[in-house]
Amino acid sequence: MSRLLDGRSVAATIRADVTERAEALAARGITPTLAIVLPTEDESAAWYVRSLQRAAEKVGIRCQVSKPAAEALVGDLDALSADSEVHGVMCQTPLPEGLTLAGVGAHIAVEKDVDGANPESLGRLAAGVADTFAPATAAAVLEILRSQDVPLSGKRVVVVGRSTVVGKPAALLLLAQNATVTVCHSRTVDLPAVARTAEVLVAAIGRAKMLGAEYVAPGAVVVDVGTNPTSDGGLVGDVDAEAVADIVGALTPVPGGVGPVTTALLLRHVVTAAERITA
Ligand code: NAP
Repeated sequence: MSRLLDGRSVAATIRADVTERAEALAARGITPTLAIVLPTEDESAAWYVRSLQRAAEKVGIRCQVSKPAAEALVGDLDALSADSEVHGVMCQTPLPEGLTLAGVGAHIAVEKDVDGANPESLGRLAAGVADTFAPATAAAVLEILRSQDVPLSGKRVVVVGRSTVVGKPAALLLLAQNATVTVCHSRTVDLPAVARTAEVLVAAIGRAKMLGAEYVAPGAVVVDVGTNPTSDGGLVGDVDAEAVADIVGALTPVPGGVGPVTTALLLRHVVTAAERITA
């Protein structure tokens, strides 16, 4: 039976650090503040933003949410980027028709871009510029592996998914750790064979339980980023956990794996941004 890589305990450790740092900022009269822009009525986006708000308040981060109309969105992001009381800015997807994350994200100041939405942040990540905020989900993949002392240098890592928010930045972060990284996507030929070469497999696809036994090598460490809603209100990952359990060495559960670490890292990015901006 594989080992479960528990994201909740990793998240708790991060939150404890964030709480201390938020208190230190408060002692200097600074309230670390995250501004979330929620531009649509999407129900699951609203649910996620409420959960972020609760998590932020618990660690001493103020979280303000605005719901601009599509025409006002980039103007609001410009204003928040210029607002000295705001340290982190995030635009929640989905976006209104006709807008792209790259176009909208370009209006978030890089030093406040706590979820790595500005294309400049991704470019800085690719160029290895220090102090760049990676998208929190991609950073969570690395944080889980680091917390479990999973070696990456020289290891064969396969990332399935090449989105700008997860797959690509995760691949860049893994490369920075000297892993040998292969990035797969919907046009990859014979994905099971490529995935089976992985000592560390990262699934960021958005297809419920797609990766079964034929996609994993014995002993592989598997990080499942997927969060796919089920008809009974639950969540499942991109990996068929039951099918791979007796093959892989370790696996992140869904829920309780990458998700909680993502939230905790987003909050850590906010205190880091506040510390840097007010230094
Ligand atoms: P996305 O933008 O839809 O990208 C999905 C990627 O998977 C694309 O690169 C796509 O390839 C690839 N793909 C789709 N079907 C495939 C197939 N049959 N074979 C191989 N590759 C395939 O999704 P995302 O935003 O990266 O999110 C991925 C998953 O992570 C989703 O389940 C999402 O809910 C979850 N997520 C979780 C968190 C968290 O905090 N835990 C945060 C963000 C996202 P192409 O590029 O060729 O289309």
